[in-house]
Amino acid sequence: MRTIYWFRMSSLRLHDHPALLAAAEGSSCLYPVFCLERRIATPYGENRRRFLLESLRDLDAGLRSLNSRLIVLDGAPEVALRAALADWSVDRLAYQLDLASAESKRSAAAVDALAEAAGVQVLARGGHTMCDLDALLRRAGGSPTTSYAPFVKHFEAEVRAAPIVARPAPSRLPPVGGEATAADDAARAVPAPADVGLPADADAAVLVRGGESAALARLDEHLQRRGGAWAAEMEKPATSPMALEPFGAGTRSTTVLSPYLAFGCLSPRLFYTRLAAEAYGRHPKHAMPPVSLHGQLLWREFFHTCAHGTPNYERMVGNPICRQVPWGDDKELLAAWAEGRTGYPWIDAAMTQLRREGWIHHLARHAVACFLTRGDLWQSWEKGAAVFEELLLDVDPALNAGNWMWLSASCFFYQYFRCYSPVAFPKKYDKDGAYVRRWLPALANFPAKYIYEPWKAPIADQKAAGCIIGKDYPKPIVAHDVASKANMAKMAEAYAAHKEGGGGGASKASATPTPKRAAPAPAKKTKQAKLK
Ligand code: FAD
Repeated sequence: MRTIYWFRMSSLRLHDHPALLAAAEGSSCLYPVFCLERRIATPYGENRRRFLLESLRDLDAGLRSLNSRLIVLDGAPEVALRAALADWSVDRLAYQLDLASAESKRSAAAVDALAEAAGVQVLARGGHTMCDLDALLRRAGGSPTTSYAPFVKHFEAEVRAAPIVARPAPSRLPPVGGEATAADDAARAVPAPADVGLPADADAAVLVRGGESAALARLDEHLQRRGGAWAAEMEKPATSPMALEPFGAGTRSTTVLSPYLAFGCLSPRLFYTRLAAEAYGRHPKHAMPPVSLHGQLLWREFFHTCAHGTPNYERMVGNPICRQVPWGDDKELLAAWAEGRTGYPWIDAAMTQLRREGWIHHLARHAVACFLTRGDLWQSWEKGAAVFEELLLDVDPALNAGNWMWLSASCFFYQYFRCYSPVAFPKKYDKDGAYVRRWLPALANFPAKYIYEPWKAPIADQKAAGCIIGKDYPKPIVAHDVASKANMAKMAEAYAAHKEGGGGGASKASATPTPKRAAPAPAKKTKQAKLK
């Protein structure tokens, strides 16, 4: 049997990879391929392209240690694999399922059709999630639940029926056929940074490296922190969105394993089972879902199940679980938010970190997403999700769309009257504004008293800090108190229309204008949104 193994953007690892193990079994020849459109600019941001190349290099090194190698084919899967199926006269094509997005399902369906037309057998197995998502959907009665508590019950029942097991990496792989490795060997190697439009110094200030080896090392590091006690006790709301070194072992941040889970460099089952054995098993007084680390992996599984079972999940229109809200459409507001120039230092610092490093803490994501949508700017969650898709390292369409629906109170979370204040919220974590000073150098010398509301500083203080508001740093783009109140009223209208319309379909709410560039009012304490 001659088999092509298709590594996808979400399966770049050797450990716990049932589809790869099944592909190796009974194959005399195995062609491990990855399809990359290297000559055209990829839609991913720089951080993500660099992470991808590092992951491919690491995967290639791992395969070489098993007497194999990675063959990088040029082009989209449905194009590149058509030629490979014919050139290598294979009998079988294998890959890991990825049900997180309409695009990953479309791409797999196109590849399946190619194989079928060529008379090639297809072998697809799960592994991107902990459970079989169809089995979880069946436990929910066929369509996904949008509440966490019942989902956990379905998950636990499923795990009792089919326990979570993480399998080791293969100890050897069948050889690669000669026709794939001969004359054009170099052309099929992992490309250089310039081939995917990366600058030569793309590696310079990188804090999170791609690849399975880096993923496993980071997992070890977390599980070894205080003999497993850190991971056992970790409760998400107690972590800080403003840890200055989110990637170090001693910080108050979260694990930063998300890029590895998204790219499939780390198996969620390995993470789950090792956590159970090495953290919870040794520290019986451990944290519990929804706030524990296991709870975080359950949130991941929850959103994957929702994405798999919901038509048009990544859009508002035609999405049966999403409230129809008449969002505004203002390119200027969107650009100011995306480029970190809203005049609200906490929001701008978080968006700057996101652009620079490709990762921000969950609560920073909460704050910027709330600000863009129902909080302040009244722009569509889909536009915010698209910006995240460009900037995030850990892009996962199921998690991205799901969390954006949550934060915009379009689904999952409905207390739209609970809103993050861009001034009061960050003060709880970082009174002196060290995080803002780090990411927004213009404000580095601002007095702590005004760090989250610099427009309020007397002009003498602005001069002394070397930063004049309106010249060196923007004035606030909207007045938070005015905008958030007006937006709550618009949300109330959208919710009422939703109720009137029987809970689905298009909204009857009218699009009211967004109050913008109004004079900022003094910040008042607003109720904070509930954390997960
Ligand atoms: P940890 O707290 O250490 O959690 C471990 C793992 O659990 C994470 O790596 C992740 O896989 C999963 N997890 C944690 N929180 C969530 C959550 N709320 N929902 C689902 N799974 C979760 N996460 C992504 O991986 N990709 C995205 O594209 C993405 N987009 C988001 C968009 C918005 C608007 C928001 C509010 C959140 C988004 N998240 C996304 C979820 C969450 O913020 C990140 O998974 C988390 O911050 C990653 O950091 P960590 O690995 O240190 O998380």
